[in-house]
Amino acid sequence: MTTSREDLPHTGLAPDTLTVAAGRPPREHDAPVNVPIVLSTTYHETRAPVPGDRIYARGSNPTWDPFEEALGALEAAGLPALVFSSGLGAAAAALSLVPTGGAVVMPRHAYAGSISLAADLAAQGRFELRTVDVADTAGVLAELDALAARFDEGQVMLWLESPTNPMLEVADLAVLTDAAHATGAIVVADNTFNTPIVHRPLESGVDVVLHSVTKWLAGHSDVVLGALVTSDSALRERLLAHRTLHGAVAGPFEVWLALRGLRTLALRMERSQATAAFLAHLLVDHPVVRRVRYPGLPADPGHERAARQFKGFGGIVSIELDDVPTADALVAAVRLWLPATSLGGVESLIERRRRQPAEPKTVPEALVRLSVGIENPEDLWADLDQALRQASGDQLASATAGKTGTLTDWMTD
Ligand SMILES: *Cc1c(COP(=O)(O)O)cnc(C)c1O
Repeated sequence: MTTSREDLPHTGLAPDTLTVAAGRPPREHDAPVNVPIVLSTTYHETRAPVPGDRIYARGSNPTWDPFEEALGALEAAGLPALVFSSGLGAAAAALSLVPTGGAVVMPRHAYAGSISLAADLAAQGRFELRTVDVADTAGVLAELDALAARFDEGQVMLWLESPTNPMLEVADLAVLTDAAHATGAIVVADNTFNTPIVHRPLESGVDVVLHSVTKWLAGHSDVVLGALVTSDSALRERLLAHRTLHGAVAGPFEVWLALRGLRTLALRMERSQATAAFLAHLLVDHPVVRRVRYPGLPADPGHERAARQFKGFGGIVSIELDDVPTADALVAAVRLWLPATSLGGVESLIERRRRQPAEPKTVPEALVRLSVGIENPEDLWADLDQALRQASGDQLASATAGKTGTLTDWMTD
């Protein structure tokens, strides 16, 4: 089998190189340069099995290996990632690290599915769930201290997501991680929004990184997958055992598509981030928009932290409008943007988050989340602008007439 254990030395290579070069089959004469999809559920056994043998496809699959190697290299883990059938499948495995009777601290604006999953487990008595404002460092530290007084080492998990979805609050990851470790807690960071192109949480000391591969990593809105990454081989063993026993395993075809998508991650992120910054700056001045949430804006509460920790400001922009009818009218009026949930694909998506019942009530009703794709930035602006005018009535047409922008105006921001 020529699909596993590549021969590339990863050290010293930049992330944009790794997206292309990591996770290749070994350089053997006539071997394919891209991995084949292996659909077989079972493997030849010519001797008694030993640990590490494939044996059966719930345990491992040759099509997973190159993706896991590439993502492990991108997150600078020193170990291959673990791919799961979905981001929430990966979240369930990560939460399994909390012992029964322990506690989990989560951002109140973490991804709604992650909070719902943790709340469900808490309702079953698995652990106690505390939610915090993750941008309020002192508040999170106080919560960790209070829990440390009641729980033993290893019983508490701090769950980080930064920026949060969809509020785009930025946590001080290194400070929170150090403080959590000092109280004996384990730290998980959902890095779906940033991707390893923008931030590598393991370098801030985080124990386990989570990805919804469905979003930016796969990048084409045609795959549901998740992943966990850790530098700790004992933790990786436990997470692998959970995946194999609980069965949230990925289909080989999906993982092949995800690796194909990963090859262009750096380019897609570069374009999405540049366009997001361009749109955010124009939206700030738009008379219909009450508030723009984007860490790339100098006035954003998360700007200083994002600039200090991250290599970019991401491709998601959230805007707040006057009321729900205006927000719904905006989403209904776009022609190029796609009114749909999810994020991180090549196509730009727009949605009012609170229309989903699971969304936390502290997310403003009239908040609209924009996932910026890779279309022409001026086309995206023109469509948003016409939809904003339509949503707010014709009287604004004159107020905004003549307000245009070009991408290059903002490229240096
Ligand atoms: C979508 C998402 C998830 C869940 O991933 P699925 O692949 O949909 O199961 C987790 N975290 C964040 C930040 C997400 O956006």
